Amino acid sequence: MNKFGFSLSEPRVIDYERNNKEVAEYIFRYEPTFRLCIECGACAATCITGLFKAFSLRELNILIKRGENELARTKIKQCMLCGKCILVCPRGVNTRNVIFLADEALTKLNGHEKL
Ligand code: SF4
Ligand code: SF4
Repeated sequence: MNKFGFSLSEPRVIDYERNNKEVAEYIFRYEPTFRLCIECGACAATCITGLFKAFSLRELNILIKRGENELARTKIKQCMLCGKCILVCPRGVNTRNVIFLADEALTKLNGHEKL
């Protein structure tokens, strides 16, 4: 934090054209409710993990949809798959299955398996 009480974020570029969206497509295929996510953040607000660690399901959903898979991979293992977020999602997204499928897809990609 600087003397003005805020700091600027490091600039970064998101290359939508080149990023690999296969993980998002994999989830859309097997858990179509993922399409209904509006990134409202209700899931992140209720998440116990998010209370103690820098983890947000809203952020994870956005990273996956952007194809920022490497960043998503660094965060996804923090989820305990407790399912609490399903109870508060206003769009009826099966969040637990989304995370499960995302982890599965990221693992397959890592092993150079076809999705
Ligand atoms: S609560 Fe549901 S709609 Fe909102 S960000 Fe989470 S998954 Fe998406
Ligand atoms: S399933 Fe994961 S993201 Fe959802 S509330 Fe539990 S720890 Fe948080």
